[in-house]
This record gives sequence, structure tokens and C-alpha cells, in this order.
Amino acid sequence: MKNKLSFICIFILSSCATLDISYPLCDFPEHSPFPGGVISQTLRINAYEINEIDINQKNIYFCQVDKDHWKILAPISLSEEIKPIDIVKNGQSILEVPISNKAYRESKITITNQDLVSPPEEYLPRIKMETELGKAAISTLSRRFHTSLKMLLPTQGIKSSEFGVKRFINNQPRNRHTGLDLAASIGTEIISPLSGKVILVGNFYYRGKTVFLDHGGGMISTYSHMSKVVVQQGQSLEKGDLIGAVGQSGRVTGPHLHWQIILSGIPVDPELFLEPSL
Ligand SMILES: [Zn+2]
Repeated sequence: MKNKLSFICIFILSSCATLDISYPLCDFPEHSPFPGGVISQTLRINAYEINEIDINQKNIYFCQVDKDHWKILAPISLSEEIKPIDIVKNGQSILEVPISNKAYRESKITITNQDLVSPPEEYLPRIKMETELGKAAISTLSRRFHTSLKMLLPTQGIKSSEFGVKRFINNQPRNRHTGLDLAASIGTEIISPLSGKVILVGNFYYRGKTVFLDHGGGMISTYSHMSKVVVQQGQSLEKGDLIGAVGQSGRVTGPHLHWQIILSGIPVDPELFLEPSL
């Protein structure tokens, strides 16, 4: 009889436990408070307040951890000054996040062919149009949030240029390197590191054959210099689905994938999102 009673008690307890609301793990990148990194914090706020939060007047990426705690994620621009950034709720700072410096590598190259230093004039209208297309794609803001942002490496390549490198051509400063380069032989498969939707496919002057993916919540990833694209605009992809293959289309010196992660319009270091195997 005693055994039977204990069994009933256990049954009741376990039934009650299943009534608890389960919350996701919210597997976000580590807090990386430097230019090119991300602010990754847990805030004690409720579901009504999460939409009142902003950082630098930009949307934040978020995930509910429990009844009154939310994880938030926001980008830090490579050009951000080294001073604290405020997490703001309804116009009032609720947390000051200290930002530290990060020493990025410099890369200096000399090119004698002027057409490779600056594009010939006839390509300028095309480049302008492609820049606008890219800007529109990276400002996509769909209301779908992932609870895990841990990503697969999109191609089996060797890291040939890291994010943030300060580039100089003939001693003239150029744009910072806003992606991660993975060198691999032509034809090496490129997969989607996270589920998402194809929002733009094109063959661009600089980027070559490129795919833009929307991962929701203002997070976009891009894949450039491909030899082959096997997806179409509007297509939904699962984590690990094939996108295409490594190539050397566009302005490149050798075959590689230029991979970007852009959060609220700001490129951040893709390595922060990788599952620990890299
Ligand atoms: Zn690159």
C-alpha cells in the first residue's frame, strides 16, 4: 500500500512539473565588448518592456530566458568610439556597457595595375546600383528570432583573412575587412550555417556571385565570390542546406568564401557565432 501511495505522489508531482512553461536555452554569442563585437547581456525585464529597449537607437535581437529575464544581442560597429554604450529603455539608460579596444591586424599591399586599384569609370553606375541593392537587403527586418545563434562553418576552408583587418592599397587606407575569408578550392560546398531565407542573389562587380540570407530579427548573412549558386530568392533554408560552391568571381586574387554576419545593418565578427569546433 505504501508503495502504491508513493507511486501516486510521484505521478502527481511529475504531472505538475509538465505544467511549467519551458523556456529556450537562448544560446547567444559571448559578450564581446569591442568594435566589431557584440553586446550580449541578460536583462531583468518583462515581456511588455522588451520592445522598449534599444541600443544606439537600433533594434536589438532578443530571446526570453524565463518569466522576467531576456537575453539581448546588439552589434558594435568597427568604427565605434571606445566609450561606454548605453542600453536604453524608453529613452532612459538602464545599463552602461564598457567598451574596450581591440587591436586588428593591418594588411598592406601594392598594386601597379590602376584598373585594379580603382574601377574603370564605365562600371561606376553598376557599382552604385549594386551598393543600393545590398543596403536594402541588409536592412531587412523580419520578426523571426532564433533561440540558438550557434552557427556551422559555411565551408571547409582555411581562414585566410580575419574580420576587421585594416587594409591599405599602395599606402592608401581602404575599407576595413567586414567579413571572414575562408580559402578553399573552387567547387567546395557552401552550406547555410543557420536556418534562414534567401533574400537576394546576384553577380556583383566586387562581391561576384553572392547570396544574402535573412535569419530574422535584423540578422543577415552574406556569401560572396561563389562559383555556383544553387538557391533562389525567396527560398527557405534549414541549417546545413547547400547554398552553392566556393569560387573566385568578382574582385579577388584567389578562390575563397567572403562570409559576413550583419546585425541591424552593422557587420560583426562571424567567428563569434561559430560552434566551438573551428
Ligand atoms: Zn573577404
